[in-house]
Amino acid sequence: INTSDNHETILKERKQYIGNNLSISYNKKVKIDKGALQYLYDDQGNTFLDCVNNVSHLGHCHPTVVKAMQKQVATLNTNTRYLNDNIVEYAKRLTATLPKELTVCYFTNSGSEANDLAIRMSRHFTKQKDVIVLDHAYHGTSTTAIEMSPYKFDGKGGFGKMTYIHKAQNPDMYRGEFKYGDKNAGEKYAKDMDRIIESLEIESKKPAAFICETLLGVGGQIALPPNYLKEVYAKVRKAGGVCIADEVQVGFGRVGTKFWGFELQDVIPDIVVLGKPIGNGHPLAAVITTQEIADAFNNGMEYFNTFGGNPVSMATGLAVLKVIEEEELQKNALEVGNYLLERLEALKPKHNIIGDVRGNGLFVGVELVKDRVTLQPAVPEIDQIVEMMKERGFFISTDGPLYNVLKIKPPIIFSRENAADFVDNLDAVLASF
Ligand code: PMP
Repeated sequence: INTSDNHETILKERKQYIGNNLSISYNKKVKIDKGALQYLYDDQGNTFLDCVNNVSHLGHCHPTVVKAMQKQVATLNTNTRYLNDNIVEYAKRLTATLPKELTVCYFTNSGSEANDLAIRMSRHFTKQKDVIVLDHAYHGTSTTAIEMSPYKFDGKGGFGKMTYIHKAQNPDMYRGEFKYGDKNAGEKYAKDMDRIIESLEIESKKPAAFICETLLGVGGQIALPPNYLKEVYAKVRKAGGVCIADEVQVGFGRVGTKFWGFELQDVIPDIVVLGKPIGNGHPLAAVITTQEIADAFNNGMEYFNTFGGNPVSMATGLAVLKVIEEEELQKNALEVGNYLLERLEALKPKHNIIGDVRGNGLFVGVELVKDRVTLQPAVPEIDQIVEMMKERGFFISTDGPLYNVLKIKPPIIFSRENAADFVDNLDAVLASF
């Protein structure tokens, strides 16, 4: 078949049959036919290095995961009301990666659904409704998750902020009020909690929860300032709220030095939300909490989830954990991530458009600016850069409140050669700006 006719037909039929508020990447669209580990192959014989998909954590179609899924799907797939080994085996393996306080698992099918459930639990536990979120955050697409997501409710088509939601300052040390070099930036950003907690006290209310990512994704690929979460969690707990860590983007070894993002801040959340990489592309997510919060949630209303925790999802999750361990992928994320950060940092003196390079492990952001003093965002340059990188065979994407941050979060099997190849090509592309 003629590929351009085929693309036209798909675009036309998508327009007709699929909800149109869904964007399609790139000006010149790509049709991907196959994926294998960190590579994607289009219908015209081109190979792309996937530098952005943090769902295919172990790489596309990882054979160990595919085999585990195939075996289980050909054996049994039912709901969780029967006895089955997989769910308990997986819950045991997963909780073994977490602090000892976090022992009770709930399995869902998406990060949105898991965040929604986490918020519901916090409200049962505290008997309060108000939630503190970080500005520009994104926590998902369900009604409750959108209410927790300034990125959505403040944006086009949003309903605005609900009265029971409170936005705290985004602790961005590049662009925010307290900058890199300020040793107390973490404490200073955390003080914004006092303002919110005091305003709640005036109304005789307490926070039900504070929720944030442990490195900010949509907020701009931002690593939190030292001590930030320690301070914030202490303030929120003192005020009676629970602390929820959204690990959907950053968990499972991506940050390199640690398995979980919250460990970088040396805190233990009351509720942890997991998603994206947990099933390497299979729809699986989880909420894990303490016995005390789980007991408060077990209040007479059953929690049943038709697909959540099914034997195929559990076999998938088990295979993912096994591969991370066997292939030592956390270590790889650290080594390759450090190399990538170092190489990107070295581009800074050559290219004025690079304002900031930041991240941990293979969760990396490069903020692009037109001017290093005014920090004017390099938009639309960033879109041209992403498009030019695609033409050279590299998929990356953009993020951040001003859409000027290159986000780089490849499958964590990414090799040093992949990183070198990527940076060499970015160097060549940036030379035109
Ligand atoms: N939390 C974070 C931090 C996310 O990035 C996302 C998805 N981008 C979600 C939650 C929602 O996950 P899902 O799309 O699986 O519902």
